[in-house]
Amino acid sequence: MSRRAVFLDRDGTIVRGAEYLRTPEELELLPNAARAIKRFNEDGYLTIIITNQSGVARGFLTEERLAEIHKRLLDMLSEEGARIDAIYYCPHLAEGSVEAYSIDCQCRKPRAGMLQRAATEHDIDLSTSIMIGDTPADVMAGKAAGCRTVLVQTHGNGFDMPEEPDYTAKDLLAAVTLVT
Ligand SMILES: [Mg+2]
Ligand SMILES: [Zn+2]
Repeated sequence: MSRRAVFLDRDGTIVRGAEYLRTPEELELLPNAARAIKRFNEDGYLTIIITNQSGVARGFLTEERLAEIHKRLLDMLSEEGARIDAIYYCPHLAEGSVEAYSIDCQCRKPRAGMLQRAATEHDIDLSTSIMIGDTPADVMAGKAAGCRTVLVQTHGNGFDMPEEPDYTAKDLLAAVTLVT
């Protein structure tokens, strides 16, 4: 039977949003993020990170360094009893400076490629799944994939929203209560 998932943006949703996070040492969990993820774990959701990392295409960090950052992030969450089931990232940017990554891909949010790939690889029912993030691109990717969407306003943002989210919440923990 297909499972439901919660797709989580990384920067500005789980960790404090640095412009381009380049080292594991810069990781800082947002308050309540681990608690929120633990609640999704307990409710039976697959918890999957969906993150644009164009810093790779811009030459700011390598995929190897990104893997170190993600290993550290999973360790930090695990220390607080929270589990991430998978991480999907997009290293691309059409106008990047590293040629191998400078493509107009289908995975970079607001496109839905990462969510669709996750759905295939983990047998996820997108219609009962949720995308949570802090920017319009997260909402658009979630909608394009057929998920419910939550905009977390972790930095009090007043974006122009090309598409309205189903819910807004002040942080990830507030989002749990809205969607479960
Ligand atoms: Mg973000
Ligand atoms: Zn991509």
